Amino acid sequence: MIPSRAFANRTVAVFGLARTGLGAVRSLVAGGTRVIAWDDNSTARDLGGQEGAEIMPWREWPWESIAALVLSPGVPLTHPVPHGVVVHANQAKVPVIGDVELFAREIRPDSNAPGKAPVIAITGTNGKSTTTALVGHILKACGFDAQIGGNIGNSVLELSPPGAKTIYVLEMSSFQIDLAPGLKPDVSLLSNLSVDHIDRHGTMENYAAIKARMLAQTAADGQLVIGVDDDHSSAIFTELSAAAKARNSAAANPVSVGKVLGRGIFVVDGALYDALSGRANKVMEMADAQRLPGAHNWQNAALAYGAVKPFLSDTRQIIAAIASFPGLAHRMEDVGHIGNVSFINDSKATNADATARALATYPDIFWIAGGKAKDGGIESLSPYFPRVRKAYLIGDAAAVFARTLDGKASYEVSGTLDKAVEAAARDAVASSAPAPVVLLSPACASYDQFKDFEHRGDTFRDAVARLPRNLKAAS
Ligand code: ADP
Repeated sequence: MIPSRAFANRTVAVFGLARTGLGAVRSLVAGGTRVIAWDDNSTARDLGGQEGAEIMPWREWPWESIAALVLSPGVPLTHPVPHGVVVHANQAKVPVIGDVELFAREIRPDSNAPGKAPVIAITGTNGKSTTTALVGHILKACGFDAQIGGNIGNSVLELSPPGAKTIYVLEMSSFQIDLAPGLKPDVSLLSNLSVDHIDRHGTMENYAAIKARMLAQTAADGQLVIGVDDDHSSAIFTELSAAAKARNSAAANPVSVGKVLGRGIFVVDGALYDALSGRANKVMEMADAQRLPGAHNWQNAALAYGAVKPFLSDTRQIIAAIASFPGLAHRMEDVGHIGNVSFINDSKATNADATARALATYPDIFWIAGGKAKDGGIESLSPYFPRVRKAYLIGDAAAVFARTLDGKASYEVSGTLDKAVEAAARDAVASSAPAPVVLLSPACASYDQFKDFEHRGDTFRDAVARLPRNLKAAS
């Protein structure tokens, strides 16, 4: 744990006592801060109390003596409307920050922390977790003490204090960036930008601007690694690389899948090229990284390559580590086979753009989709409908998705995931396709029927495990 001393002997309020809130309480208390806290959930309040926070309803907080408000990233800061606690903090001129800001204040070079370690920060609409895990995996394989946290796994404050070989690898959601104005990463990555979380950010422009802010905060002697295959990210690259040329700020390296770049990192014809020096060298065949299937994962691999390059000179070590990446659960995870049918768990695909990547990867798909619908629906996926042998619709979005699919792809409304798995498996086994895939890639949030995307993916995996192995004979 990293004790937070920035507010020692003062009072800090913590609102929201889930993973990051509890991490903040623990760290602040360890750093000698008086913490008052609230969560609407009584179990969370009990946990906060056990960590040393004084539990007090937020409407009773003594704002005049509060030095900062640590807000959970799940609580609305600006959109659709700021939470009441944020309004009160703003009126009292109390800064509103997150756990990552406490972390940043602790490990910056001018703090009295025992040391400083480099920070690699990763953001974007899709691919953050995969890229973060991959960067951590490569660094560990090459002898570093990679401390992985943020939006993935542990709160950043639960990570170990910096040691000689420490590199922090942080996944940053836009909500966390909003609450961490003091984070100055040594390397910042932007994977891609597409419509997501607009309800929480107002407009796409605002959403893109928040992501760009993290990149602009990067240390002047640092590096930027930016996917340039979508318009918003490409515009951010153009702006920041012009800034880097004009003044003393982080160098910007572009990453593309499909385009040959004069300088940068790119994947063409299934091979990764390093052209960071201006001359393109073929680095590896992406087919060697078996747990990184599909062009979107090649983007993640190219981004991760760019992130670790400043710390590792031996390219062969990097390649070996990319090839040995075990993959992440719920992201195009192969969870079983019956005959020639593969079952793929892509429960983490909570928006249409993520689902597009999965649909682009397989030719004969028995597609399980639906859940709590996101803005924009699945209209944008229609170029992939010819690959969909049949769709099995679940959850709240089933009726809306059915309307989009009508006349373009065959579908049934299965209602629940268990029913969808049974029907899709039966049809896939009976099909004449050479390599049919039963794909859970919902293009929706999970909260209508499940606790979270992990619960949805685990339910899929369990349903696949329960299928009779002799399905072919039975059908
Ligand atoms: P995030 O943490 O940004 O949500 P994940 O790595 O967890 O990203 O992947 C989320 C979903 O997006 C998965 O369905 C995955 O297959 C898909 N995905 C992963 N990488 C990319 C990418 N570079 N571009 C688009 N989609 C991606």
